[in-house]
Amino acid sequence: MSKIKRVGIMGGTFDPIHYGHLVTAEAARTEFQLDKVIFTPTGNPPHKRYPVTPAEQRYLMTVLAINDNPYFEVSRMEIDRPGLTYTVDTLESFYKELGNDVRLFFISGADAVLDILTWKDVDRVLSYCTFIAATRPGYPMDKLNQKISQLKELYGREVYPMKVTGLDISSTDIRRRVKEGLSIKYLLPPSVEVFIQKNNLYR
Ligand code: NAP
Repeated sequence: MSKIKRVGIMGGTFDPIHYGHLVTAEAARTEFQLDKVIFTPTGNPPHKRYPVTPAEQRYLMTVLAINDNPYFEVSRMEIDRPGLTYTVDTLESFYKELGNDVRLFFISGADAVLDILTWKDVDRVLSYCTFIAATRPGYPMDKLNQKISQLKELYGREVYPMKVTGLDISSTDIRRRVKEGLSIKYLLPPSVEVFIQKNNLYR
């Protein structure tokens, strides 16, 4: 009998990807004994109120960032799918691609969990995967725990919070720093920093 594979799906806009994301994925991999983590940059996120960097560039930055970790992969699934990006479609496609001998873990920021009731087919999303909610230092855990209890009551599903010390870095802050001409060194991999400079992103 084949062993069930434990696969992490690291969902995010990654605009840009930074060390906080990489530390989060590695923490999830070890804490939840994942066989691999597939970074899946969003294509056309329905919830963004500001223009995001073109998907192809966010994808390339993700490829550069994960290059030295043998347990990390990147999927083009969301960026190649036309229309708005919904996690429910992504999880269904991953089951089709990877087969049924897998257990999927969806890793994202805790803020995504606070909003999850607005997501398309949230009941199916929670039934398809084990949801891991990464929190930054100082994150208001009360709000998150309340939401986790509510989701358990409504759908009978657990969401696992995961405290990530290194997640003190944020894409918003990196974009602001670039715009203001401040250094972003040591916040993200050097290859991603060079990509941002060469492509004149976030100016
Ligand atoms: P977001 O709202 O931009 O991010 C929320 C917070 O979580 C930010 O502080 C962000 O930090 C952090 N974060 C995002 N992804 C993370 C990750 N993988 N690990 C650790 N922290 C993370 O969230 P988003 O990136 O657009 O969306 C997160 C995921 O939820 C994506 O896969 C998206 O497709 C999915 N989603 C689905 C629906 C739907 O199906 N209707 C709706 C919303 C989101 P940074 O800014 O530093 O990344």
